[in-house]
Amino acid sequence: METFEITTKIKFGKGALEYLESLKGKRVFIVTDPFMVKSGMINKITERLQDGNYEVFSEVVPDPPMELVTKGVEAVLGFKPNTMIALGGGSSIDAAKAIMDFSKKIGNLNDMRFIAIPTTSGTGSEVTSFAVITDQQKGVKYPLVSDSLLPDVAILEPELVKSVPAAIVADTGMDVLTHAVEAYVSTKATDFSDALAEKAVELVFEYLRRSYESAEDMEAKEKMHNASCLAGIAFNLASLGINHAIAHNIGGKLHIPHGRTNALLLPYVIEFNAHIDGFNPKEYTVAAKKYANLAKLIGIQGVNTRALVKNFVAEIIKLQKLMKMPMSLKECNVTTESIQEFKQDIAKGALEDACILTNPRVATTGDVLEIIHQITS
Ligand code: NAD
Repeated sequence: METFEITTKIKFGKGALEYLESLKGKRVFIVTDPFMVKSGMINKITERLQDGNYEVFSEVVPDPPMELVTKGVEAVLGFKPNTMIALGGGSSIDAAKAIMDFSKKIGNLNDMRFIAIPTTSGTGSEVTSFAVITDQQKGVKYPLVSDSLLPDVAILEPELVKSVPAAIVADTGMDVLTHAVEAYVSTKATDFSDALAEKAVELVFEYLRRSYESAEDMEAKEKMHNASCLAGIAFNLASLGINHAIAHNIGGKLHIPHGRTNALLLPYVIEFNAHIDGFNPKEYTVAAKKYANLAKLIGIQGVNTRALVKNFVAEIIKLQKLMKMPMSLKECNVTTESIQEFKQDIAKGALEDACILTNPRVATTGDVLEIIHQITS
């Protein structure tokens, strides 16, 4: 028996921030990053907290480290809120999740409600039980996984993503695609997660390019914000795979934005998982057939499963190139020396990462090293 449950209440579309007006009388702790304060975006939140009973912790940095979480916990224990708001990209939401979880345990704040307000359309963290925290000394990103990390409410207000620079629209949009594709071929995929993943893939191919090309295209912004959330629910149900397992370890060592790393890996991971070369049509893997389904879904033609998978990969690469994304670690300004220095650690870490457990094809150290080699230059 399996269960399909969405714990998080989702408020979406223009005007979704109005929900915050229901927080009158609450003691609110806001976790965010410095950009949200500097740009004034935080005011869109605080002006709705009419009684002004809030504190802002705005020290989140990309790939939030453990030390930041400790600092946030101290601030929460001092302020004793009954509501926490995370405002920002995945880094702010993940930092807030970890801060909230530890504060609840240490500070007897079990009634604290948690509201996540994403300002990027990428991670889906507003609906997942994951939080990715970085151990800077070891250069490792750890996915914490617990239902206690699930937000009570997610607010998807498309206005908030208007200011995301084009390069970050590309990175985070490819993160959405990777979530949906990995969830779709996961060994834990179900009809329920498939339905969400399929919709997310369709939305990405229809709207990501438009969102990248124009900050004013509010229809595209809204659709990508929804796609991010749908893909988040999909992978929260079905988990992820080798793409994220490697990306977490590249991110911890080489500090490339998360979505960009996922994008670099995705074409090669699909080819690895599909395992199509040399197969006769009767022996196509389940993953190959599912990638072929996605290809058909977005209108790609192909005479057989093999051709559909190849053409799906080509379509992904075309989208990356249209958005002028780097196509190798070298183009991300990573030196050959760094890759040589870290590749064994990255491969070892990837094989120990929780995401690898649901990958459709079992991978060896050699397989991961080969994928790293393919994205090197
Ligand atoms: P991010 O939160 O690190 O933000 C990237 C940059 O974008 C920051 O400089 C931020 O200030 C800026 N930014 C955010 N919103 C903006 C806006 N509206 N306008 C202008 N600039 C804006 O990026 P992200 O890709 O959203 O999150 C990445 C993190 O999320 C990584 O640590 C990754 O591992 C993690 N992650 C978590 C999950 C999960 O389920 N918890 C899933 C995938 C990724």
